[in-house]
Amino acid sequence: MKVKILTIFPEIFPGFLGYSLTGKALDKGLWQLETVNIRDYAFDKHGSVDDTPCGGGAGMIMRPDVLDAAIKANYKQGRLIYMSPRGEPLTQAKVHELSLEEEITVICGRFEGIDERVIEARQIEEISIGDYILTGGEQAAMIMLDAIIRLIPGVLGNSESTTDESFETGLLEHPQYTRPIVWDGREVPEVLLSGHHQNIATWRHEKSIEVTKRKRPDLYKKYLDSKKV
Ligand code: SAH
Repeated sequence: MKVKILTIFPEIFPGFLGYSLTGKALDKGLWQLETVNIRDYAFDKHGSVDDTPCGGGAGMIMRPDVLDAAIKANYKQGRLIYMSPRGEPLTQAKVHELSLEEEITVICGRFEGIDERVIEARQIEEISIGDYILTGGEQAAMIMLDAIIRLIPGVLGNSESTTDESFETGLLEHPQYTRPIVWDGREVPEVLLSGHHQNIATWRHEKSIEVTKRKRPDLYKKYLDSKKV
């Protein structure tokens, strides 16, 4: 997968994506990163990319003309995404969908965001990583990309399976344990030491349901509804 990032802080990348599984995958060429400095497309010698909001108010807005010049010169094909708190909420289902793309171009906003007209004119898809406000789209892009890259075939080893993780089945993951078998007077549930695969699978499924019901009643309701159809 080819990832292009349009940003005014290209030096932030690859950041934490350069470590661990995503970093190894980058070294192996399972994904490629290209950063584009939006400032290189500014029309003045100061590299201005923003201006004050029409109608007044706090902060600055990223100019449509400069951003569009950066898009035109760098966006070729595939998904064109603007990280935005007003976007479609990122879910594991969306992450799966995006992991199948060959090329993704991501626009990172700063200040109070970008001029609406460029979103309309270039039909840019908006994605949010949650209902809170960050200082910049770079952080959001890196979180989204981390989730996407780990699903690219070959990134996770055989030992790290994704199929029974939280959200993959519509439920949260069951509790996990490792050695020591007794710690702080607490024992690992006996069934997990039994070697009985069917009983372990049943116990894990029951625990998943219990945990989801308690911690995320909203998810649990969706899970029940999906079972009805
Ligand atoms: N004024 C905007 C917020 C701007 S925050 C508003 O109220 O909607 C500055 C930049 O950070 C945005 O342009 C966006 O790229 C990024 N950003 C902030 N919160 C985000 C979120 N929850 N998801 C994705 N991107 C976000």
